[in-house]
Amino acid sequence: MAKILIVEDEKPISDLINMSLTQAGYLCVCEYNGMNAADRIERESFDLILLDIMLPEVDGYELMDYIRPLSIPVIFLTAKSSVSDRVKGLKLGADDYLTKPFEIIELLARVESVLRRYHQNQHVINIDGLTIDIMSRTVLKDGIAVNLTKKEYELLLLFVQNKNIALFRETIYEKIWENDSMGDSRTVDLHVQRLRKKIGWEDKIIAVYKVGYRLEV
Ligand code: CA
Repeated sequence: MAKILIVEDEKPISDLINMSLTQAGYLCVCEYNGMNAADRIERESFDLILLDIMLPEVDGYELMDYIRPLSIPVIFLTAKSSVSDRVKGLKLGADDYLTKPFEIIELLARVESVLRRYHQNQHVINIDGLTIDIMSRTVLKDGIAVNLTKKEYELLLLFVQNKNIALFRETIYEKIWENDSMGDSRTVDLHVQRLRKKIGWEDKIIAVYKVGYRLEV
């Protein structure tokens, strides 16, 4: 499930986008000003950012400085329809833009198309000495291949895609073992232990008391 950050200070517009994208099956997070958005981008991973240009505190153009090094695709949302603003957005590294007001159907089409392009090009994740290649499902630790089972690999991806967020054992179990009713939360513990050991992340995948685990990077 693609995770999308919506940075838009006009609540009705943000709510409408959130509702439409959630209905379409995306996981959405909303921020209403540039400072909070910058904090959020540093803490969490996103597949796409919808970014309003005119924002309180830090505007959309400035936020691009935080986003660009992370190579997260961006669609600018803007009330400005002049050619120079569009060109500025694209020059700053945005993948696309939408001029407000826009039709939801257009928003969905652009989101889908940017995500498709992004996933075709960006199938390698580099994180804390690990290189994860989504296409070949291979994992390298400091350049050396690590042999993970299918479940360990999926578990690793889940942690990486939700870095710095505490995940409930039950949530982890449901996501990784969805149709497999054989195990329980102890299955999660066992797999986490083995994964930690294999990739040397004993001090990074932290047990959270009464919750589950959190990847700290
Ligand atoms: Ca605005």
